[in-house]
Amino acid sequence: MSGLRGGVDLGGTKIQTVTQDEGDKVVGEARRPTPTTGGPQAVAEEIVETLLEAATAAVVESSSLVGVGVGSPGAVDSGSGVVEAARNLSEWDAPFPLGPTLEAALDTKVVLANDVQVGIEAEFALGAGREFSSLLGVFWGTGVGGGLILDGKPWLGRGAAGEIGHMVVRRGGARCSCGRLGCMEAYAGRAAMEARARKLLKEGERTELFKIMKERDRTRLQSGIWARALKRKDPLAVALIDRAIKALGAGIASAVNLLDVEAVVIGGGLGTRLGAPYVKRIEEAMGPHLFVRERPPAISVAALGDLGGAIGAALLVGRP
Ligand SMILES: [Zn+2]
Repeated sequence: MSGLRGGVDLGGTKIQTVTQDEGDKVVGEARRPTPTTGGPQAVAEEIVETLLEAATAAVVESSSLVGVGVGSPGAVDSGSGVVEAARNLSEWDAPFPLGPTLEAALDTKVVLANDVQVGIEAEFALGAGREFSSLLGVFWGTGVGGGLILDGKPWLGRGAAGEIGHMVVRRGGARCSCGRLGCMEAYAGRAAMEARARKLLKEGERTELFKIMKERDRTRLQSGIWARALKRKDPLAVALIDRAIKALGAGIASAVNLLDVEAVVIGGGLGTRLGAPYVKRIEEAMGPHLFVRERPPAISVAALGDLGGAIGAALLVGRP
């Protein structure tokens, strides 16, 4: 045994892997695009390749890793290693035995957990949440995910806690990807913002968002494209981000009113890309909605950045 652990952050657009030593230091990393065809089997094969790349960078074979942790989207059964309803991955609605498939290919133990929960636990253990015993993580990306640490322990509820993206910020409001109306994600999720930008473009609004997308050789409005458009003061990008920030302010403040956590950590693709100035604006947008306004929680950007999910996944291996 090398004492090294592997971590995998399985996302809709990329697979990020790390190898970590006993002191939680990252000693190898690799990243590849998530296959968009071929279903779960193709994704599992790409995970193996990406992990082997990170292991090679750390000069170990996958079989000599103590184990590999995987943060996965969708409904994750940690006991059986089965993942289903991972809807932002290709053809992944039906249950697929991801854990057993990876164990067979990598010849080491594989532990799975929900990707957002893994990210928040990483921030709690090693990142922006280190000093606190209660924490709300908000992952502002394609959707808006959330995770909770209460009294020093992850709070999973009955398995579905932390779905802050589906806090209702406007009754009868915009249609969300979940089918309901007025969810925070329907205003702040990158997918919802892109859908609205496309609609407004068709209706004749001017924007450079899609020009930047083509320049960057992308087919979706990824976080970096929003960041570039904001830098150019693109009016539509500015308006949609303002709208997102207002929704985030209302939703996060409502969660804080209920839970009174010590700290809020904002991560996710947009959260980490737009960074501190925008997190400051979310904090300001929360203000008017906070019940105990004179004692707001500490708010910061996720400290582990792009690697947070994979680092958190590697931590799963050591967990009793
Ligand atoms: Zn929703």
